Amino acid sequence: MDLKRVYLFREGNATMRDLLGGKGANLAEMSNIGLPVPPGFTITTETCNEYYATGKKLPAGLMDSARAAMKDVESQMGRSFGGATKPLLVSVRSGAKFSMPGMMDTVLNLGLNATTVKALIEETGNKRFVYDSYRRLIMMLSDVAFDLSKHEFDNEIFATYKQKVGAKTDLDLNADQMEEISQLFLAHVRERTGHEFPSDPFEQMAVAIEAVFKSWNNDRAIVYRRTEKIPDEIGTAVNIQAMVFGNAGDDCGTGVAFTRDPSTGEKLIYGEYLMNAQGEDVVAGVRTPVPITELEKQNPKVFAAFMDTANKLEKHYRDMQDLEFTIEHDKLFMLQCRSGKRTGPAAVRIAVEMVAEGLIKKEEALQRVTGSHLDQLLHPRIDPSSLGKAKQLAKGLAASPGSAVGQVVFDADTADLAKHGKLSPNGSVAIGKKVILVRDETNPDDVHGMLASQAVLTARGGKTSHAAVVARGFGIPCVAGAETLSVNVHDRKFSVDGQVIKEGDVITVDGSTGAVYLGELPLIEPEVSGAFGELMAWADSYRTMKVRANADNPRDARQAVEFGAEGIGLCRTEHMFFEAERLPLVQEMILTKDEKVRQNMLDKLQVVQQQDFEGIFEAMDGRPVTVRLIDPPLHEFLPSFEQLVRETTEIQTRIHMGQKDLEKELEAKMKLLGEVESMKEQNPMLGMRGVRLSIILPGLVIMQTRAILQAAAALIKKKQKVYPEIMIPLVSTVNELRVVQNQLEAEAQKIVKEQGVEIPYMFGTMIELPRAALTAGEIAEYAQFFSFGTNDLTQTTFGYSRDDAEGKFLQRYVEQKILSRNPFETIDVAGVGRLMRIAVEEGRAARNGLKCGICGEHGGDPESIDFCQQINLDYVSCSPFRVPIARLAAAQAALRSKVAVTLDK
Ligand code: ADP
Ligand code: MG
Ligand code: MG
Repeated sequence: MDLKRVYLFREGNATMRDLLGGKGANLAEMSNIGLPVPPGFTITTETCNEYYATGKKLPAGLMDSARAAMKDVESQMGRSFGGATKPLLVSVRSGAKFSMPGMMDTVLNLGLNATTVKALIEETGNKRFVYDSYRRLIMMLSDVAFDLSKHEFDNEIFATYKQKVGAKTDLDLNADQMEEISQLFLAHVRERTGHEFPSDPFEQMAVAIEAVFKSWNNDRAIVYRRTEKIPDEIGTAVNIQAMVFGNAGDDCGTGVAFTRDPSTGEKLIYGEYLMNAQGEDVVAGVRTPVPITELEKQNPKVFAAFMDTANKLEKHYRDMQDLEFTIEHDKLFMLQCRSGKRTGPAAVRIAVEMVAEGLIKKEEALQRVTGSHLDQLLHPRIDPSSLGKAKQLAKGLAASPGSAVGQVVFDADTADLAKHGKLSPNGSVAIGKKVILVRDETNPDDVHGMLASQAVLTARGGKTSHAAVVARGFGIPCVAGAETLSVNVHDRKFSVDGQVIKEGDVITVDGSTGAVYLGELPLIEPEVSGAFGELMAWADSYRTMKVRANADNPRDARQAVEFGAEGIGLCRTEHMFFEAERLPLVQEMILTKDEKVRQNMLDKLQVVQQQDFEGIFEAMDGRPVTVRLIDPPLHEFLPSFEQLVRETTEIQTRIHMGQKDLEKELEAKMKLLGEVESMKEQNPMLGMRGVRLSIILPGLVIMQTRAILQAAAALIKKKQKVYPEIMIPLVSTVNELRVVQNQLEAEAQKIVKEQGVEIPYMFGTMIELPRAALTAGEIAEYAQFFSFGTNDLTQTTFGYSRDDAEGKFLQRYVEQKILSRNPFETIDVAGVGRLMRIAVEEGRAARNGLKCGICGEHGGDPESIDFCQQINLDYVSCSPFRVPIARLAAAQAALRSKVAVTLDK
């Protein structure tokens, strides 16, 4: 049998999106449920792929099939394509599986030529309408097929003509003027292309079909697919459909509508229409469209028919619909329906209300809301209606979600002063309480300033730069790596594209998109409505994995609990060392050669660490807390080598010029420089850190273990439950774990004895090196739990340094499809995922019921969470602000795995 390339609408249905595209499948479905849809047919997406596979040629036989289908349409309409009486006109419309609004091409009014124009004028007696349709055909087909921009027709010829005759809009033009414009358009085609505009209707059709296929690969469409993660190889279908006319008089019109408000989710009809207009006039801004509710007054009968159809469609598809319709002489026709795009708040409200209305089940409601929908709900966002007029200054990486407005400041101290309502130190500008910290990049010295700011903006650094990681941890919006910014801290200004922004000037930052705007844009506060709470409760009732949060301080811990966290999956202890009063103690502890001095410093640190842990345990109120022992290389706590070199050189110069009193200072600095130099590493990421550090310098982790367990004991004595899980990082062989864990276990037992209370502690390890995953069976003999550190595990499995990769080649890799996606955002299932699966299976084989979780950033990524469900992890852990997203994603993963199980049977 011949390959079937063409489906009449009555041969298709809504499930055939792959083959017929979304538009084609829904046109078929609407026809079949008896709605008023002009007849037509769909050329399959496979035909588009065939077109590209055979070197961009319309497959032989395609036009024969199209002619045969047209016979059917002609007889349904009682008209003939190209006929000298009762001519039939059609539209040729693109339509891929996923909607790509405005990305591909559509041509209306095909079939018009000298003969049919005449016939149609005779038939309708409406010459203006016929030439209005003709000029649109010439413009649209030439635009898509002959590379003549629509704007040349619309903005130049048409606009000039309107001006000449004094017409404000197209409505002011009469029949003869429309005819003249059509002639001008035809002449323009002749002049620019050297050939006549095609008059044969089937030639017009073939040209239009090919243009739609080509539009699949225009630049706009390619970029759109990349951002929306739509595959390139699925192709577009082409829909050919009898025309109905919204431009045939004042009892005609065209419009678009949503069955619910797409920005709030409220149940009301929402849309716009224009009388005596065609196609995209409503959205193109040629005239100001009228709210759909006006139609009720203007034409109650049509409005009632429309509402009836809208309700039918919403019930039929059981989702909010986005509709396109046309009115021809008071009769309604449906031209498109699809699930409407909606904001986060609308998605949640619609899903929950549809359950209440009995339209969908809870399971479905959960599947309809995405992580990015919730993300919008949990952070302030820029009022979308203000973006049109906003002036974008720069675009960086969307490093931490949410939007903020504030005055620019250039250093952490100024930010901190501003928070307390004080003037900037140089007093030159008045700074209010809301500031945005702008820096080349941030470092640990800036943390207090970041905390005092509404948002952080950096000119350099990736999504894992210090600024990004810290901002995400604190839930502060951050745009990182806005490379067009040139920051001048000394003169307290930054410039971008020749524009200068001074300290105190106001900017708006959108950490969800990476955009930076000049001035203050209105923000919409997050609305954690009743619907949100309801949806989250449903999510919790379906999910099987637990959700924990990564939190390093009591504030974050409380936030996490508020968002529904069931424990802490990662508490990083080193952040606590960076605080201003502690850093000198840490530095001295690292630098001293004297064991007594070191112990003294450790004792002092222990007191403050114990307070930290008491705060966190208290905030977590009986939920388990995984505390990771010190992980980064020690030189991160010392001044940088480069800075010390600069400083010593400067002092030397000044001594040389006679400032002899500086010699003592030089000596001290030189000593420090020598020590820092001796600790310098070629590859700190692979160097002296994690468990390796604990083996060389055991005092530090012994101190931390004491701080953790004494804090636990203190709370237990106050009758609070505490479940500390002490985690040893960066283990690659069981022997490392054995040495350190034995030592710490001995200490732990000592503490339990001293305190005289039972402490339900555990020791476990992070699985973040390939060797650890591959020898998980051995490791599990010691470790009582595993936590996958997928950031490091991804780095070491690929052999990429994340910052270097994201800054240099990763994007190219994704564009060239060497990698299907950034493995630091979504777990690489084939490689990293395989290691995780092995580790879980072999770990649990060695230790029954071994608790396994994930604490890398992937723990907040819905697709990665789905994988975690597949390998039976006990929990995922993510930043506090992603906890609701993880709860939802875990429910979705559980539902999917349940479906998979029932299907298997
Ligand atoms: P897009 O995918 O960009 O929305 P469409 O194929 O939906 O493009 O076409 C845009 C508009 O053109 C439709 O909303 C409708 O108003 C008009 N249109 C398309 N086909 C017809 C038709 N057969 N009769 C009347 N109007 C049509
Ligand atoms: Mg459309
Ligand atoms: Mg790590």
